[in-house]
Amino acid sequence: MIYLDNAATTKVCEQSIAAADRAMRELWGNPSSLYNMGFEAKKALDRARRTIADAMGCTEQELYFTACGTESNNIAILGAARARKKWGKNIVVTGYEHPSVGNTVDSLEKEGFEIRRVMPSKYGTVSLDELLSRVDSETALVTAMAVNNETGAVIDIKRLAQGVKSINSRTAVHCDCVQSFLKTKIKLKDTLVDTASVSGHKVHAPKGVGALYVRKGFNLEHSQFGGGQERGLRSGTENTAQILAFAAAVESWDIKKAMDNAARLALRLRNAIVMSGLGIINSPDDASDFVVNFSLIGYRSETVLHFLDERGICVSGGSACSGGKSSHTLTAMGLDNARVDSALRISFTTDSTAEEVDALVDALCEAQKTLVRSGK
Ligand code: PLP
Repeated sequence: MIYLDNAATTKVCEQSIAAADRAMRELWGNPSSLYNMGFEAKKALDRARRTIADAMGCTEQELYFTACGTESNNIAILGAARARKKWGKNIVVTGYEHPSVGNTVDSLEKEGFEIRRVMPSKYGTVSLDELLSRVDSETALVTAMAVNNETGAVIDIKRLAQGVKSINSRTAVHCDCVQSFLKTKIKLKDTLVDTASVSGHKVHAPKGVGALYVRKGFNLEHSQFGGGQERGLRSGTENTAQILAFAAAVESWDIKKAMDNAARLALRLRNAIVMSGLGIINSPDDASDFVVNFSLIGYRSETVLHFLDERGICVSGGSACSGGKSSHTLTAMGLDNARVDSALRISFTTDSTAEEVDALVDALCEAQKTLVRSGK
């Protein structure tokens, strides 16, 4: 099987499986319990927190475990906006966010916030200047994804946060870093970002575990209540097995190796698409190397996905969350239907190979020869 849909999810790595197995067999005590079994579970959790905090470039006190990237985005966005409601009247957001951000911001619109959406250009990029031009003295929150999950478009979150704070130091800056975590060298401590989300299953941990960075001293209104775990921000008995599995996956990931590999493969794929006339690339030129989005004009995405699936190759149409619906990112870019309906997203991970890319390209060339063009 050739799996090139790593932006949707990744295969759980052996280290992660072993860590979850050990946690369930040996460290199943409640981390809040006041006897040895509880202390052992708590110690293991603390170690996991250190590992993930190090990888994000923050302190352990700034790192909160959650159930997933979606939950992290909800806690941060709702909490930051509501905490600024007295004076904050508007929210600035890109027009191509993941639904876990887009729909959360939409819900804040119903609470009375004005939402200022900044659309991507036809090249897939969102202009930093345009985002900053929408910030004013009443901006409660700016939220922008570091890497777009459908095209790999990048926003420089360090420059964004710096720019926002220079206009309004009270404005909160949230970044969805789910697709950039371990795929860029940015450390949160070097930025003025206030909150940032990551998710385990994009980096070979199981689904159902994520983390949220909250800068020390940052004011966030709590939206969940319970036993006070995760310093009251995200109550609920800690999911030790998933958290330890997440830390094990992070420990076994080599950022440089992953980035070098993705750069090599993205170049190889982009060249093949252009040279064999396979289609039009939708990802910006300076996109993250982990995602390449292109359109095989004249061939509907679903038909091509099915063709590839029969040959054991897994790729995606838009995002996995769109579940067959048209890509909201490509639509936001203003691309025509022919391009949106024929889009394919290829996404790499640290152990994706050149042979896999070549096999994909061969299969796509075969698809072009075999399949009937739509609209004919
Ligand atoms: N943000 C982005 C950019 C994503 O790609 C995803 C998942 O695809 C999420 C958030 C949601 O993460 P999770 O699946 O852990 O809820």
